[in-house]
Amino acid sequence: MKKARRGASRARFLGLIAAILLAAQLTSCGTAGKAYQPKPKIEGSTLYVHRVENLPDDFILGMDASCVPSLEKSGVTYRDFDGAEKDVYAILAENGINMIRVRIWNDPYDGEGNGFGGGNCDLSNAVEIGKRATAAGMRLLVNFHYSDFWADPGKQAAPREWQGLEIEDKAERLYQYTRAVLKTLRSEGIAVGMVQIGNETNGSFCGEKIWFRMQQLFSAGSRACREIFPDARVALHFANPEKKTNYEEYAKKLAYYDVDYDVFASSYYPYWHGTLDNLAEVLSGIADLYGKEVMVMETSYAYTTEDSDFYGNTVSDGTQVRPYPFTVQGQANEVRDVVDTIANRTQNGIGVVYWEGTWISVGGASYEENRDLWETCGSGWATSYAAAYDPDDAGRYYGGCAVDNQAFFAPDGTPLESLRVFNLVRYGNEVPLKVDDLADAQVTIDLNDEIVLPETVDSVMNDGSRQQTPVEWDLTEEERARMSAGGVAKYTVTGRADGRVARCLVSMVEFDYLTNGGFETGTDEGWTLVSRKDSDELYVEDKVTDSRTGTRHYHFWSAAKDSVDFDLEQDVTGLRAGTYKYSVSIMGGDAGQSEIYAYVRINGEERERAPLTITFYQEWDTATIRSIQVEEGDTLTVGIHVVCSGEGNGAWGKIDDAMLNSDAP
Ligand code: CA
Repeated sequence: MKKARRGASRARFLGLIAAILLAAQLTSCGTAGKAYQPKPKIEGSTLYVHRVENLPDDFILGMDASCVPSLEKSGVTYRDFDGAEKDVYAILAENGINMIRVRIWNDPYDGEGNGFGGGNCDLSNAVEIGKRATAAGMRLLVNFHYSDFWADPGKQAAPREWQGLEIEDKAERLYQYTRAVLKTLRSEGIAVGMVQIGNETNGSFCGEKIWFRMQQLFSAGSRACREIFPDARVALHFANPEKKTNYEEYAKKLAYYDVDYDVFASSYYPYWHGTLDNLAEVLSGIADLYGKEVMVMETSYAYTTEDSDFYGNTVSDGTQVRPYPFTVQGQANEVRDVVDTIANRTQNGIGVVYWEGTWISVGGASYEENRDLWETCGSGWATSYAAAYDPDDAGRYYGGCAVDNQAFFAPDGTPLESLRVFNLVRYGNEVPLKVDDLADAQVTIDLNDEIVLPETVDSVMNDGSRQQTPVEWDLTEEERARMSAGGVAKYTVTGRADGRVARCLVSMVEFDYLTNGGFETGTDEGWTLVSRKDSDELYVEDKVTDSRTGTRHYHFWSAAKDSVDFDLEQDVTGLRAGTYKYSVSIMGGDAGQSEIYAYVRINGEERERAPLTITFYQEWDTATIRSIQVEEGDTLTVGIHVVCSGEGNGAWGKIDDAMLNSDAP
């Protein structure tokens, strides 16, 4: 049965009536569990939280907590805010989480029964987690990877047992397997609220890369879910919302094949996945066009750059895109903003699930100690045994947890204040403003310019607002000189502001002052053509094999004798007074008698020429005119002059990579 579901945006307007209907819907369904009640606000938190307005009671605030049993086997314990040791699922429920996500791999073991790690997430693991989540009043979100280990945009290997099957047989196996797993969960009394058919299935799924086959597998999984848990939502899950057209393509394909699903879900990691504005726009577009519910299926944010388990983390000091500070408050602000985006700025937005907020260090005092626990309990991201299935990645780089700095628990299992955000988003919590951290400053400097660093950096306040704060950079004259002489490169300069360490990310670049110097816009934008003869072909061409760099260049060809005679030039104004250099490249053939040169004019007056020749295909010749002195207000014209008498089939050539850079005085 396919259920028509109310989107969050409608529930908001229906208000009380909707809440009553919802309660009736949930209580009438034997496996859906208790109607969820938001927790009362916990007083006394030091966390600043802007209230998320209009948050429906049934808005999904989920947590993927798939690794917990393997961590507990490794000796990990969790505590609540009172310091009491307690079931971590109960702690999550107390703090506003209402759905637990768990991944399921078909058979994450080698031939000897050694687990591949990553929580050894088989069915028995899901049963244990499902029972504990249900006991704590939460519903389970079942995340089928349909693989024997991690599935993501780069990996969609079918389970070993299904490899080599014809698509019809594979779809049947997937259907039967999904039925069997869900029946087991049902028989254990687990409240399943949502079932996810595949994980981050960006254009490939369960060993298939052709949509005609992928859709058969999606449909088989969906059908099984409808039969066993008719009241659960069926979700499909994709990654990389920053690639808008990919998402539109996925949704279109699913509609074309009439795949039966309720939720188009996305991962959203701010370091890699674009802005929240973009996320809202992309998901709203799909919700609007196809009438689907949408949600964030995975998000997370680092509260520190410190690693706590002797295995490096995916997000660290080197991570440059950090829209929030890597602090406990920054982590909470990220969650709050994602929830607000989905609840209030995304059409049919139904929820947000945080990824593995309980995955912390196994707690050993050394790498070796931890490694033994990861290997025996499966509590790291992969064990050495995973080589049996994924030899090139897991089999080589196996080890511990790469996201322990994105958890909601400290390495000792005590909760971070940020865990309270799931409760506090409903109420808000306005505490006195204070500086949370400094934002990195960023500057881009031309190689020949003086290195000038900003006089202030942004202090990021606990409420997310920013204040400019004076900064003193630690940059000696020697370091300055080294950066100026070091060519194109990136540097991190540190300093002090407001008693904290400030960072400035400096990019030394060779700035190109031309518009469309490499013709990569695909048009002659920026350029003026002066053609004195009737050439057959003069245009920007898109052909990677004939381009010096990129995929486009300026092309000329003409069959008749003496029919190639043109200038291609560009005026540049607004330059700062200084010294510049201009270069341009050409290749071609059958030129006959020719006169080709790069030239520079200042205020209409020719200053210099540099000769060029064309000989053979792929024999590029480059002319460079240096030490061009420009005064404030000058109009600089740079160009290439081409005259060919032609021979054989007519003169032809390709012009590419015109550049105007500053030059050392
Ligand atoms: Ca780690």
